Amino acid sequence: MVATIIDGKAFAAEIREDVARHVARLSEEHGIVPGLAVVLVGEDPASQVYVRSKGKQTVEAGMASFEHKLPPETDEATLLGLIEQLNNDPKVHGILVQLPLPGHLDEDLVINSVDPAKDVDGFHISNVGLLGTGQKSMVPCTPLGCLMMLRKHHGSLSGLDAVVIGRSNIVGKPMAQLLLGDSCTVTIAHSRTKDLPEVVRRADIVVAAVGRPEMVPGDWIKPGATVIDVGINRIEGEAGKTRLVGDVDYESCAAVAGAITPVPGGVGPMTIACLLANTVTACCRAHGLSEPE
Ligand code: NDP
Repeated sequence: MVATIIDGKAFAAEIREDVARHVARLSEEHGIVPGLAVVLVGEDPASQVYVRSKGKQTVEAGMASFEHKLPPETDEATLLGLIEQLNNDPKVHGILVQLPLPGHLDEDLVINSVDPAKDVDGFHISNVGLLGTGQKSMVPCTPLGCLMMLRKHHGSLSGLDAVVIGRSNIVGKPMAQLLLGDSCTVTIAHSRTKDLPEVVRRADIVVAAVGRPEMVPGDWIKPGATVIDVGINRIEGEAGKTRLVGDVDYESCAAVAGAITPVPGGVGPMTIACLLANTVTACCRAHGLSEPE
């Protein structure tokens, strides 16, 4: 079997075009420009790349981008003060605090200080609760991107066996909630799971969000299953260069799976596209306008 490659890059480009159309309409019909504020504390190189990319794509979609870069030693009161200011700024419809934060800052406290209506990352405890109870919420971007790819590939997910490997608050848990919401039978696996290969072999859908390069080999995959690889791991490549790989061993999994997302070009671009879409959604809700589909 040769797996269908789920092209996240192309799908993300379609979503960005939709977003840009909505943004243009909001501006023409209502004189509103959706705005996304991104807060970066410190100088983590990967975070700097993400923030730059988010800012660029926000502007390309016709939205306003507000970047706030704070030094690594920023204290909690200063950061909370900035968030409060953004919560009260009518030009800002979405707020994203880039994680991870430096160790001296209380991540939960910071996340929960963002106005839930502007929490385009969907990490605020009230959005987590709304998602968990099947109510309208802000949905975390990475799991949302994964769900959109799965829906596009499968149509209905109802009744499928899904295994999510990883139970983080930002990927694994919300991913499991979304799959449950689409009527999958969901298993969440983690580092203490007994006989992980056997658990994964049962799955029609495997979502790997572990952070371990190429951990899932092809012989864990049920023939024809769909594999969504969330992992982004930088490893040593040839000639001293580094390269990006996912959490699944792409070659051996693609030989067995029915469909698979590549790394790069799968989940990554979908995450940013969903962030832009969430910002438009937040903007529409703030102004009492109908939301994009
Ligand atoms: P975390 O480190 O927060 O969580 C990793 C999870 O994997 C934990 O639940 C851990 O279990 C589990 N795990 C670790 N080792 C094993 C193992 N040997 N067997 C089974 N489970 C294991 O990571 P994140 O959820 O934040 O990210 C996961 C991956 O996704 C990373 O590679 C990250 O870079 C990537 N990512 C990609 C994004 C994108 O846009 N494409 C966005 C966000 C993340 P336990 O809880 O028991 O410790």
